[in-house]
Amino acid sequence: MSMRIGFGFDSHVFQAGVPLVIGGLTIQHTEGLAGHSDGDVLLHAITDALLGAVSAGDIGTFFPPSDPRWKGAASSLFLRTALEEIKSAGYRIGNVDTCLVMMRPKIVPIANELRESVAELLEVKPHQVGIKAKTPEGLNQDAVAMAYATVLLESLEQEEPLKQMAAVAEDDDELNDVVESLVVGVRDTSALGRKIPAFDTNDLT
Ligand code: MG
Repeated sequence: MSMRIGFGFDSHVFQAGVPLVIGGLTIQHTEGLAGHSDGDVLLHAITDALLGAVSAGDIGTFFPPSDPRWKGAASSLFLRTALEEIKSAGYRIGNVDTCLVMMRPKIVPIANELRESVAELLEVKPHQVGIKAKTPEGLNQDAVAMAYATVLLESLEQEEPLKQMAAVAEDDDELNDVVESLVVGVRDTSALGRKIPAFDTNDLT
């Protein structure tokens, strides 16, 4: 299986009088993030990580701040474009990990909600998304929100043989027999289909 990694970073300044939007969520706070779009620092970092993973440039390549069409735009639009880019390049998301850096508001109480929002926008399961947060200790950046994101992409090519088998197999049992015959001797088949444990947000620091 072919894999690609991507990395993204973004920062925005806090500003009074605008809503605070992070990870597609509108968050109750005294200030929002200034920006040409909705200022969603987290989605911008993830968008850049996705585009970078398939060498497709960055968010400014597709949505230049000089273009009035993107004034006040929802950043989920940018994210959808990046998703289309990775799909057309033949990849899907394996997992995404992120780190928000801001003095306030506190992210930990809303980390689970953020994770579900980002997962829904990325069309993946919540356990494929990591949301972590830090305060900018010693950086003298209390008026700024920063976000870092990494993504791991997996190629879609491995899915094709299974899809073809699914198309010809008479029923699930027959398909399972075919899959088992392919993987036997390679790995412990009793591990297949094992439920993935839920992500524990209490681990967030
Ligand atoms: Mg930005």
